[in-house]
Amino acid sequence: MTDRHILTAVAWPYANGPRHIGHVSGFGVPSDVFSRYHRMAGDRVLMVSGTDEHGTPITVAADAEGVTPQEIADRNNRVIVDDLTGLGLSYDLFTRTTTANHAAVSQEIFLGLLKNGYVFPQTTLGAISPSTGRTLPDRYIEGTCPICGFDGARGDQCDNCGNQLDPVDLVNPVSKINGETPKFVESEHWFLDLPAFAKALGDWLGTRKSWRPNVLNFSVNLLADLKPRSYTRDIDWGVRVPLPDWQDRGDKRIYVWFDAVVGYLSASIEWARRSGDPEAWRQWWQSPDSDAYYFMGKDNIVFHSEIWPAQLLGYNGEAAKGGTPGSYGRLNLPTEVVSSEFLTMEGKKFSSSRRVVIYVKDFLARYDADALRYFIAVAGPENQDTDFTWAEFLRRNNDELVAGWGNLVNRSISMAAKNVGAIPQPGDLTDADRALLATTSGAFAPVGELLGRNRQKAAVNEAMRVVGEANKYLSDQAPWKLKEDPARRDSVLYTALQAIKDCNGLLSPFLPHSAQQVHELLGGEGVWSVAPRVEEVTDLDDGRPYPVITGDYGTGQAVWQSVPIVPGTPLSAPRPVFTKLDPSIVEEELARFAEGSE
Ligand SMILES: [Zn+2]
Repeated sequence: MTDRHILTAVAWPYANGPRHIGHVSGFGVPSDVFSRYHRMAGDRVLMVSGTDEHGTPITVAADAEGVTPQEIADRNNRVIVDDLTGLGLSYDLFTRTTTANHAAVSQEIFLGLLKNGYVFPQTTLGAISPSTGRTLPDRYIEGTCPICGFDGARGDQCDNCGNQLDPVDLVNPVSKINGETPKFVESEHWFLDLPAFAKALGDWLGTRKSWRPNVLNFSVNLLADLKPRSYTRDIDWGVRVPLPDWQDRGDKRIYVWFDAVVGYLSASIEWARRSGDPEAWRQWWQSPDSDAYYFMGKDNIVFHSEIWPAQLLGYNGEAAKGGTPGSYGRLNLPTEVVSSEFLTMEGKKFSSSRRVVIYVKDFLARYDADALRYFIAVAGPENQDTDFTWAEFLRRNNDELVAGWGNLVNRSISMAAKNVGAIPQPGDLTDADRALLATTSGAFAPVGELLGRNRQKAAVNEAMRVVGEANKYLSDQAPWKLKEDPARRDSVLYTALQAIKDCNGLLSPFLPHSAQQVHELLGGEGVWSVAPRVEEVTDLDDGRPYPVITGDYGTGQAVWQSVPIVPGTPLSAPRPVFTKLDPSIVEEELARFAEGSE
């Protein structure tokens, strides 16, 4: 183990339904590849996230079904936990925002900002129903978006262009309850003083040289137009405002986005408590040597490169108004905001409402998790918008995973199992043998360097290039023609199996499920790649059980270096590691898609 602490902060999926493959290609798989690599390299990784359960869309869904927002959140939290676990995403803790712990941490951040003068009260215009005189929560107001002209925009957000709105901004606002035009009256809210962070944010971004240029440029451009932003909302579902006159109010809550980003901290604190050392989170959040990488899709950059850093700077007392850290002490800012671009599907934007969608659970019912993980790594939206097509998925699976990596594993281990029954004892190695082993063992450094910088596409391509070298070696040496020379055959098979052991290490961050299988095919015992597990806990205020994702990732044998195979280790005939797909799946899936789009 190194002493390097790395926080992997993964975007919080919103608990309004199951995840689709566009979601997990943005935040899910890349954050897991990164974490698995660093754990193999001996670094101390803390990977946290959870479901984001407050905000208007969940209350709208609850109203529509006649249930409580918590019931909607409870249901979708379980669905999402299953989606992420099915993909093997190795969270140290995947929790949720409706815990008492999360509320307490969110309130502490608010109070720290208040103490240092970075939030201030301001009277704005809020909506009431003219006929009843009661406050109209944002979700009950609809109108035309002032930015894109969409006529179904809600009081807090336009679902067409994605911009955050205030109800008073809507053109022709109407109450969804009775169709009347709301009356706007004075309403008090707390605002985050974003202009006070302009210099501190600019100085910090000026030191972030390693970021993807599009993310950095986008973030720097945001600084040109910083305005105070409402920290509270007219809504009855969310974290309460921790002030004497506000705590018990039914109609005011902390804005969902301001509590969701606090989740990275609250989940770390919850993880520490569950680990038995309540102070353990401080290693990742307060040590100057620790790094924090935040993973998300590009639509969330603003909350991770502007809002959350501003909350942290204000809590620390490190912006224009000065101040001192709150009771937690000084908290680290992100090392890097790792944002991916968008995945489209067969040329169309993913949309659950228009049913242009492939849900993770449907995908995993028909295909292997590693097949999707491989596609996302090699052809996903790492640095440009990318299209998922079934034809390309089929090609990548069959030509690269099955015919490339799977075939190398299968034919080498089959031949060794059949002829020797164990990992063969090699004789003197030839130049060709030594050259291949130098290539495979030497690939850990360059592939690791790419993974450390989140150049995952280049990393997986380099690993697969090495697989190609091993396949070429096997074809050139043709051990199946060496029946008359078993000593040489055994040296070739030994060399091939050692190359497979190395390639399996290189591919383990991407393909943890098949990496475990290859480990076992090579006669390995125990756990190579640790899978996440789901635990039922009962920490919500009323003691209802809910699932968290966690895992004992330190117990896996996977390491980021060449591990020598041991001649004489028994081998049995392998089963295929990957599933070759019939080309007919393309038409079947497109037909399913056509039905869904109707
Ligand atoms: Zn709009």
